[in-house]
Amino acid sequence: MKWDDNGPSRDLEDRRGESGGGRGGFRLGGGRMGIGGFIVLLVLSVVFKTDLTGALGGGTESGSGNPEPAASVPGVSTPPAQSSAGEDTLVNYMSFVLDDAQQNWTRIFTERNAQYERARLVLFRDAVNTGCGAAESAAGPFYCPADQKVYIDLGFYDDLRRRFGAPGDFAQAYVLAHELGHHVQNVTGTERQMRRLQQQRPGDRNALSVAMELQADCYAGIWGKHAQEAGKLEAGDIEEALKAASAVGDDRISEMSGSAIRPESFTHGSAAQRMTWFRRGFDTGRVDACDTFADR
Ligand SMILES: [Zn+2]
Repeated sequence: MKWDDNGPSRDLEDRRGESGGGRGGFRLGGGRMGIGGFIVLLVLSVVFKTDLTGALGGGTESGSGNPEPAASVPGVSTPPAQSSAGEDTLVNYMSFVLDDAQQNWTRIFTERNAQYERARLVLFRDAVNTGCGAAESAAGPFYCPADQKVYIDLGFYDDLRRRFGAPGDFAQAYVLAHELGHHVQNVTGTERQMRRLQQQRPGDRNALSVAMELQADCYAGIWGKHAQEAGKLEAGDIEEALKAASAVGDDRISEMSGSAIRPESFTHGSAAQRMTWFRRGFDTGRVDACDTFADR
């Protein structure tokens, strides 16, 4: 996509230099909503009886006995984020997508006489403390409703390209736009309604979760439409987003893990569903076209 490099967003929190949320496995729950891909690593880890989740995020644990880097200075609690030139560009690109998507949501909310509250994007490495508890990179990108922040370890994008076969800058943008879709659900109150419904109707838990995820995909599509109208899209961009949406669909994840596909256990939606709803948002650009709860 064509984008303007305006430097880091004011809604960006760069925590790549911090030591993160500690070890001891990531905890699910706390209302976090992710992109779905992390399940692959968990399942593969079980299948191969090896902990592959540590391979994410570029941070392999070094063996014991490795000396601390000589450059570490006593008394400086937070080392600066170490960032390659390529990663700096990615940070600015994420900043552009964040600001552009949130400007678009501000406009949409204003048209409906509602107020949009901006989310923040936290970049981290390996592990992070959030308003929804501690998380590790292996959990994939996610949104925490409690602190209204999107959390992304940029290492996930290597994974998206290599392991999920979904390369491209617009695939990366789709991931952030999807997480911002969860923020919109939080601001509108849909997220709270859904949690209440899930407690009242435990049998519909998964179906409701799928509806939430597909709506976030549809909202990502709405931003895609806005980017297209602004003349920002290049050939192949939408295909990149669709490929990413498809790659992190639950049925693909089941296929990769070699297990039987059981729709009732889906929590994010199938590849076809995810592509359909992204497209619906992209084709219409309308929030009311994203009612994934209509049949529920
Ligand atoms: Zn999601």
